[in-house]
Amino acid sequence: MRALSEKVSGIVSSATLDVADRAREMKRQGIDVISLSIGEPDFDTPNHIKVACIDALMRGETHYAPSRGIPELLQAVAGKILTENRFPCSPEQVIATAGAKHAIAMAMQAVLNPGDQVIVLDPSWVSYEPCVQLAGGRAIHHPLNPKTFQLDDSVGERITGKTRMIVVNSPSNPTGAVLDRKSLQLVADLCADYELLALSDEIYEKLVYGKEHISLAAVKDMAERTITVNGFSKAYAMTGWRLGYAVAPPAVIRQMTKVQQHGVSHPTTFVMWGGVAALTGDQTCVEEMRREFEARRNYLLEVFREMKATVAPADGAFYAFIDARGEDTEVADHWLAKAHVAVTPGAAFNAPGWVRLSYATAMPQLREAVKRIKSVWGEAPGRVMQKGVM
Ligand code: PMP
Ligand code: GLU
Repeated sequence: MRALSEKVSGIVSSATLDVADRAREMKRQGIDVISLSIGEPDFDTPNHIKVACIDALMRGETHYAPSRGIPELLQAVAGKILTENRFPCSPEQVIATAGAKHAIAMAMQAVLNPGDQVIVLDPSWVSYEPCVQLAGGRAIHHPLNPKTFQLDDSVGERITGKTRMIVVNSPSNPTGAVLDRKSLQLVADLCADYELLALSDEIYEKLVYGKEHISLAAVKDMAERTITVNGFSKAYAMTGWRLGYAVAPPAVIRQMTKVQQHGVSHPTTFVMWGGVAALTGDQTCVEEMRREFEARRNYLLEVFREMKATVAPADGAFYAFIDARGEDTEVADHWLAKAHVAVTPGAAFNAPGWVRLSYATAMPQLREAVKRIKSVWGEAPGRVMQKGVM
């Protein structure tokens, strides 16, 4: 066979999906694996959302839709952005996408030129860099403060004549950190000084524990410089629906629409009606799930405090990011092999030495996973995983 695409050969596969697949395969072989790997709510999609989708299907919403998405969904997103995220937004600035991931990929394709640089703040979610690379750009990594996981002005040192964009993710996957106003203002200042765009991935915005989520586009002058990405997977337990959206200046949305037209055309028509119900319906379900995640988070933080492990802030999302003292892959492999608990090594997030536990897993399983982890706690190969001093 002749050589395949160098660009695609140059990207890594998704470690979050790979680890989850591995755990699934072990389960299929009859091994009792508890997966704390993938970030997927264990809850079922709330009923009123399913009913809205079924109703749409039954009344014949089975045809092609406008390429940016059905007007009802664009309107619902614009209304939500105005009232909840507090920055100006009209339906013309919205595109519905097949998941937030797809919105990120299309945003990169819509704005980047070959060789453009995109600043990615580490630890960073697995798909940002590949999305940049697939769009012909280059990711420039910059570490957040390793204790607070906030931004400081050293990020300015990464700017070159080729810098085009900075990616912000708050609440963060994998650390759970929520960026404070100061960090967001630093991003805003950079964008203003160097004419950069920001991509703000706010998919975990509803999952915060005692912290305030601030939208980057709500910071002064940022609405015209920000591509805000969000979706339904986390807040409404709709991972399999593949529905998300982006809000951006109209010129960016027009570019993204072209990319969408030649890719998936638009998200699935009846699925978008589920999205309308999610955004315009009763929000009690979101708060109920948030509270359950918070209880699990508190439980895990307590457990790891007792075990004297260092855990990143965990102020949002549903991940506990734990310092494994430089042995992330060994620890993850060991826990999977010996305790049958799947977690994701930090190297996947450009943060080697840490492991990510997803607590989007029911409490009984989480308790069992903790019991198993405790049983192998001092046994990992290598140097540091001594009992009580990880
Ligand atoms: N951004 C972050 C930070 C995520 O963790 C995920 C994981 N699902 C996504 C985007 C993509 O979400 P979606 O299911 O909407 O594609
Ligand atoms: N975002 C989730 C995670 O990090 C789901 C998998 C993925 O899309 O990466 O586990």
